[in-house]
Amino acid sequence: MAKILLYLETTAASGKVQLKRSSLELLSEVQRTGWTKEALLLGSHAEAAAAELSAWGLSALYVAGDASLDLYNPETYAAVFAEALEKSKPQVVLGTSSSTGRDLFPRVAAHFQSGVISDGVACEWTGDTVKIRKPMYSGKCFVTGEFLNAPVKFVLMRPNQLALIAAPGGSAPQIQKLGMQTPLKTVIKELVKGTSEKLDLTEANVIVSGGRGLKEAANFKLLQDLGDVLGATVGASRAVVDAGWVPHNMQVGQTGKTVAPSLYIAVGISGAIQHLAGMSGSKVIVAINSDANAPIFQKATYGVVGDLFQIVPALTEEFRKTLAHH
Ligand SMILES: Cc1cc2nc3c(=O)[nH]c(=O)nc-3n(C[C@H](O)[C@H](O)[C@H](O)COP(=O)(O)OP(=O)(O)OC[C@H]3O[C@@H](n4cnc5c(N)ncnc54)[C@H](O)[C@@H]3O)c2cc1C
Repeated sequence: MAKILLYLETTAASGKVQLKRSSLELLSEVQRTGWTKEALLLGSHAEAAAAELSAWGLSALYVAGDASLDLYNPETYAAVFAEALEKSKPQVVLGTSSSTGRDLFPRVAAHFQSGVISDGVACEWTGDTVKIRKPMYSGKCFVTGEFLNAPVKFVLMRPNQLALIAAPGGSAPQIQKLGMQTPLKTVIKELVKGTSEKLDLTEANVIVSGGRGLKEAANFKLLQDLGDVLGATVGASRAVVDAGWVPHNMQVGQTGKTVAPSLYIAVGISGAIQHLAGMSGSKVIVAINSDANAPIFQKATYGVVGDLFQIVPALTEEFRKTLAHH
């Protein structure tokens, strides 16, 4: 029987270690296959997070619980990952198109003389291989790619694209501990994170994004208020990042982050092709813009033509009232 190895990621949001939603999406997706399923978790929280995995039908869980793996280091991660692969011998390795996945997978794939298909949005499972649908040319078209002569097939899926299901049940996986025998050439001393408690844009289910229509940095407060009421993460266009109003980690688009939330509210954003490249996979797009001819309206599910300085506070107030009753 074909075998798949999942590379899973954890988050420690609000002090509690849990699997990232994108990793739960991978676990959900592979339930569609009859393949043997195994997974890999790295870092000192790995065994704690393992409890969450007991009902996902995994036959083995490889863990490396060394504290030096708590911060991503390409050197150590690639070595431990390769060790897991030598033991697991899967046909396919599946991970998330996160910054870690994109850095790690090509290193490990090169070690196994294979390649990576990244930015996948759908999988088609056949026999002991998989075909991957992915966007090209900034989302202008989609291609379906498959591997030729690859001993192990490495695939990275975009977050928020695969359907999430409840764990189907089953027995807990057998835990296999991995060693840390690599002599290190580099050590990561510290990771300085942004101060936001909100979910990263790539993981967020609701995003409120602002553009140059907001006129100045201080007006992003309007979006923060709306975001707080909706439990949304705030994003931005490149124009306002370049103007220094907000940091680059908030930028959505071709040279920023690719997002696919259930709801994307674009406020004072014109909808340039480079912005659309990063958010057109959103399930519902709401555009608020004073120019009825703004290109964003061609992509929007719902459009509001008007002054954002009137509409956004009114929306925030209405959502606050409505959601208070739920
Ligand atoms: C190589 C390259 C890469 C790029 N990468 C990215 C990228 O990753 N992400 C990205 O976003 N851009 C990117 N850009 C820039 C992109 O081309 C646009 O310049 C940018 O997206 C415009 O940002 P904006 O929509 O905020 O500003 P604008 O285009 O200036 O639009 C502002 C909008 O606000 C509206 N508005 C004004 N006042 C109000 C009001 N009171 N109420 C409501 N609406 C109002 C206007 O009608 C207008 O539509 C890239 C460009 C290049 C060349």
